[in-house]
Amino acid sequence: MFSDMTEEMVRTAVRGWYDPFKSQKLGNVCVVKGCGLPAAYHLCPEHAVPGAVVEVLPGKPNVIGHWFAERKGNHFLLLLNDWSLGAVFGNRKQFEKRLISEGYTRVCLMPTVEDVFIVFRRYPRVIHTPYESLNDLEADRDC
Ligand SMILES: [Zn+2]
Repeated sequence: MFSDMTEEMVRTAVRGWYDPFKSQKLGNVCVVKGCGLPAAYHLCPEHAVPGAVVEVLPGKPNVIGHWFAERKGNHFLLLLNDWSLGAVFGNRKQFEKRLISEGYTRVCLMPTVEDVFIVFRRYPRVIHTPYESLNDLEADRDC
């Protein structure tokens, strides 16, 4: 399937690393269905995961979680924003179950930015990519 979209460079401002256990900022509401607790970004401290705070649209920051995983001999850093984690999967455990059901092993959420740098040093060919469901990718091939 070909897209008529042209490749564009997306500039993002990385504002730092979010640690839900250390954050005191709670100005939003958690997007997990039925939760509704105060949230720093899109998830309350119970549902939130650590990650890079990234602002793709001005004033609309997301927390991008980084999951290390292996699949078919390749190493990955899979990225998922906090809105998708909460609204699509409900919580970290459900997302990690999905990854395992798609054949990923050694699934591990990166707790700090230092851990991300360790992965880059240890696995120089790591595939650093936004998470896309393998089911969706296979459906695209049928088009
Ligand atoms: Zn919540």
